[in-house]
Amino acid sequence: MIAEVTTPKELQKMDPVFGQVSFDNHEQIVFCNDKDTGLKAIIGIHNTVLGPALGGTRMWNYTNEWEALNDVLRLSRGMTFKSAITGLNLGGGKAVIIGDAKTQKTPELMRKFGEFVHSLSGKYITAEDVGMKTEDMDTVRDVTPYVTGISESRGGSGNPSPVTAFGVYMGMKAAAKYKYGSDSLAGKKVLVQGIGHVGETLVDYLTKEGAIVIIADINENRLNEVGAQYGAKVYTGTDLYSAEVDIYAPCALGATINDDTVYKLNAAIVAGAANNQLANENIHGKILQERGILYAPDFLINAGGIINVYAEIEHYDKAEAMRRTENIYNTTLEIFDYAVKNNITTHEAALTIAQNRINQRKKESGK
Ligand code: NAD
Repeated sequence: MIAEVTTPKELQKMDPVFGQVSFDNHEQIVFCNDKDTGLKAIIGIHNTVLGPALGGTRMWNYTNEWEALNDVLRLSRGMTFKSAITGLNLGGGKAVIIGDAKTQKTPELMRKFGEFVHSLSGKYITAEDVGMKTEDMDTVRDVTPYVTGISESRGGSGNPSPVTAFGVYMGMKAAAKYKYGSDSLAGKKVLVQGIGHVGETLVDYLTKEGAIVIIADINENRLNEVGAQYGAKVYTGTDLYSAEVDIYAPCALGATINDDTVYKLNAAIVAGAANNQLANENIHGKILQERGILYAPDFLINAGGIINVYAEIEHYDKAEAMRRTENIYNTTLEIFDYAVKNNITTHEAALTIAQNRINQRKKESGK
C-alpha cells in the first residue's frame, strides 16, 4: 500500500518517476508533448492484467510537473482497484493534461492528445474527468476509437452521474443493512456534502425513501434550488464535520476525512461519491474503524460511472448498466464481512479482494 499525497517540495526530493511516493509498480507512463498545440500530458497505465487500462483524462492547472505526475500515478492506480472490485474486465489507467481547461483547451490540442492515445493501440482507453466535456471526447473520437464517454448521438453511454448516484445509494443501503439490520433509509439523517451532478440525484433517491436529508454546498444557489425541489434541509451550522447525523455522504471533494475531521465525525456511516475520501487510507481508515464508524469504500460505491462507460465496450444497454450497478449492494456487504473476519479496515478489505482478483487472473493467464 502506498502513502498519500504529499507536497510538491517533498515530491521533488524523490527519484523523478519510479521513486515517486505514488509509484506503485505502474506498467507504463507515457509523457506526451506537442509544440504546436502546447499539449503536455502524461498517461499512466497502472495495470492491465484484467483488461485495457480505462480511466478519464483530467485537465488541471498543476503548479508543477511533479504534482501532475503524482496525480496521474495515484489516479491510475485507483482505477485498477475500482474496476477489479466491480468485476469489470478492465485495468487501471488515467491521463492528465497540464493546463487550464478554460483557456488552454482547443480542439487541436484534444485531437493531438487523441493521437497519443491512439499510439498505445488500445492499451489505454480514455474518458471524461475534471476539465473535460462530452464534446472533448467526441473530438478525441475523431482520431481514435480508444475513447468512451462520447455523445449518445455517436453511440456513447451518456451522462454517468445518475448511474454513479444509484451505486452510491446502493452502497449506502448496504451499509445501513450492516449497521442497523435493515437497509431502509427512512427516517435516517443523511448529510450530503456537495449537491452537484451526483449529489443531487442521490438526494432524490434519499428523499423518495423518506430519509431526512441535510445538504451542504459552497454554491448557495444550488442549495436553494435543491433544497426547495426535494424538501431537503440546508446545513446552517458552523462545523459540518461534527454535525450529528446517521450517515455522512461526501459528494464534493476528496480527503475530507483527515487529521482535522476524523475525530469530529458524528455519524455512524460514511458513504459517498467523492474519490479518495480518506486523506491517508491507512491511518484514517483505521481511526474510523476504531471509532465504530462504518466506511463504505469510495472506489467501490462510486463505480456506477465506470460501469456505465464500460457499456460502450461491452455493448450493453442502460438497464444492464443499472443492474450491474445495483450489485454494488452485494459487493459492499461482502467487503464488510471480509473486513470483520480478517480484522482489517473496510478499505483494506476492498483493496485485498480487488488484488486477489487480479492475482487470480494473472495466475490463470500465465501473464
Ligand atoms: P460536481 O462538480 O457536479 O459537483 C460537486 C459539488 O460539490 C458542486 O455543487 C460544488 O459546488 C460542491 N463543492 C465543491 N467544493 C465544496 C466544498 N468545499 N464544500 C461543499 N461543497 C463543495 O461533481 P460530481 O460529478 O457531482 O462529482 C462529485 C464527486 O464524486 C467528485 O469528487 C467526483 O470526483 C466523484 N465522482 C463522480 C462521478 C460521476 O459520475 N460524476 C463518478 C465517480 C466519482
